[in-house]
Amino acid sequence: MKVEVLAVGTELLLGQIADTNGAWLGEQLALAGVDSHFHQVVGDNLDRIVLALRTALARADGVVVTGGLGPTHDDITREAIAEVMQVPLRRDPEIAGRIEALFASRGREMPASNLRQAEVPQGATPIEQRTGTAPGLVCPVGGKVIYALPGVPYELTEMFTRGVLPDLRRRLASSGSTGVIASRVLRTWGLSESALGERLAERVAALDEAGGNPSLALQASGIEGIKVRITVKATDPQSASAMLAAEEAEVRAVVGAEVFGVDAETMELAVSRMLLERHLTLGLAESLTGGLVACRLVAVPGASAWFRGSVVSYAPEVKWNLLGVPAGPVVTEAAAEAMAVGAANALGADVGLALTGVAGPDELEGHAPGTVIVGLVLPGEPPSSRHLRLPGDRERVRQMAVISALDLVRRALATQPAAGS
Ligand code: ATP
Ligand code: MG
Repeated sequence: MKVEVLAVGTELLLGQIADTNGAWLGEQLALAGVDSHFHQVVGDNLDRIVLALRTALARADGVVVTGGLGPTHDDITREAIAEVMQVPLRRDPEIAGRIEALFASRGREMPASNLRQAEVPQGATPIEQRTGTAPGLVCPVGGKVIYALPGVPYELTEMFTRGVLPDLRRRLASSGSTGVIASRVLRTWGLSESALGERLAERVAALDEAGGNPSLALQASGIEGIKVRITVKATDPQSASAMLAAEEAEVRAVVGAEVFGVDAETMELAVSRMLLERHLTLGLAESLTGGLVACRLVAVPGASAWFRGSVVSYAPEVKWNLLGVPAGPVVTEAAAEAMAVGAANALGADVGLALTGVAGPDELEGHAPGTVIVGLVLPGEPPSSRHLRLPGDRERVRQMAVISALDLVRRALATQPAAGS
């Protein structure tokens, strides 16, 4: 089954905002086992939206449209869909009632234009609005379908999961002989895409030869690493999950310690889980990342159980005076290790992690931009460090430094026994 994505909004064409909805929808469709071969972006223009919808429906079984469902005159997705369906719009009294009630509950008068959002193409099924005022739409077009979702990202994600995914799954199940398509994502860090591809080449070839079920796909995800997606088709959920588990074991056997997380488990969640399992706390000293590592860690709910804090020791004097780093050069392995020890001491943490280096654009202490040294100290072990050469501009170097440093912690913790084991 093929489903395309259409993002509506002149501001997207002008580059004023990025089409993050399209990216998110693409990922969700892939995870659901749906092929998405084309994405389109179109401005707020009736004829061009109609053309984009027709083009998508000519190639695919469905299209997800995002944006243009609001109350203003430039929100015309509804009209465009009605034209493609060749039906009139009708006012849905239930939707109108809910919009009116929403305004009343906020003690605000409702502008009449809001009732535009209660207009539904004849034959379409509304997806009830929960977080905003605009409902979504499920619009049958022959045997195909247009899903219309609001442009506001948190409204879109909630409504896609609740109102679109179940309908897509039903269509998927009836479109082929297979009952269930399921996927699992193994997140990796530390190998290039080509190196990962080489490690998996033999397995991919074997699966292809055996008919492509399960199948493996690589997805480079920038500073989130490279994902290996396993997709299986099976007759029922139980056999699907058994197939996923078996294939996960195959992939892990060749990729090994580079796998840090499964599905939604980010690097910071992996580190969090491992610290909790070992009853350890973490303290940081950050130079070039200026608090970015701390920022990612405190985004994890419950971080207070294991995260002590971060010293943003940017100036050399702060490293010397606050962390006890011996006065001298600060982009060295010795300095990184002393920073890690200093952070653990100053913050009362079991594990100390430190980052020092050169984000660029200028060099520092004779080191090229992208030079990053990570210091680490674990309980009962001498401090250690890793010298990294990271690619990219200042921002990318800093972001790559964060995940590289966390990966180092993850790998080191793996060698320490979990409590109770
Ligand atoms: P509203 O009821 O807010 O008018 P809408 O369905 O009409 O919702 P738009 O007006 O197209 O949606 O977009 C509303 C806001 O949602 C935009 O200002 C923008 O911030 C965000 N948005 C819209 N489309 C996208 C997109 N493709 N990717 C990311 N954000 C988007
Ligand atoms: Mg709008």
